[in-house]
Amino acid sequence: MRYALCPVNDTETVFMAVLEILKFPNPKLKKKSLPVEAIDDDLRRLVLNLAETMYAAPGVGLAAPQVGHSLRLAVIDVTPVAEKKNLLVLINPEIISAEGECTWDEGCLSVPDYNEDVKRKEKVVVRYQDLEGKVCEIAAEGLLAIALQHELDHLDGILFIDRISALKRALYRRKLQKEKKEKEKEKEKEGKKL
Ligand code: ZN
Repeated sequence: MRYALCPVNDTETVFMAVLEILKFPNPKLKKKSLPVEAIDDDLRRLVLNLAETMYAAPGVGLAAPQVGHSLRLAVIDVTPVAEKKNLLVLINPEIISAEGECTWDEGCLSVPDYNEDVKRKEKVVVRYQDLEGKVCEIAAEGLLAIALQHELDHLDGILFIDRISALKRALYRRKLQKEKKEKEKEKEKEGKKL
């Protein structure tokens, strides 16, 4: 765990925490998230911790359900690691237009050690609220457009592996089971040591 000091508001400074990222097949990842009702200190704290967790992973996006909060909230930063941070906080985001098609090799912090081609829209426009509650729109293409679609999917309980063929998904499940069995065998061996 890594902590950094960061202000939540004018009077309070909190310790930021790296949160546990839920992994497939955790049922919480399948739930449809609820809209954010109030942008208060609790939400600001959650945003800071989401960002901290995303940067620590490292990843280019993280949605609230991935850390166990069933809220329509996500953070994205697609700037390369060496460059200055450019955090995008998306509250109650929705895709208002999309065009074109593309295929992108995707991965997910909740689906470790697995990448697969996913069909996505090439360009999207997303409407969302920022941390001040202001309604904003962002037009995106390339990696940012993919990240937006991927994170918004999380808010509806959809993982990228739900968008690949059933055969590929079955192979992934088999790989997971095999790894689980191997881990159990290792544990058994450990248990027999004197
Ligand atoms: Zn993901």
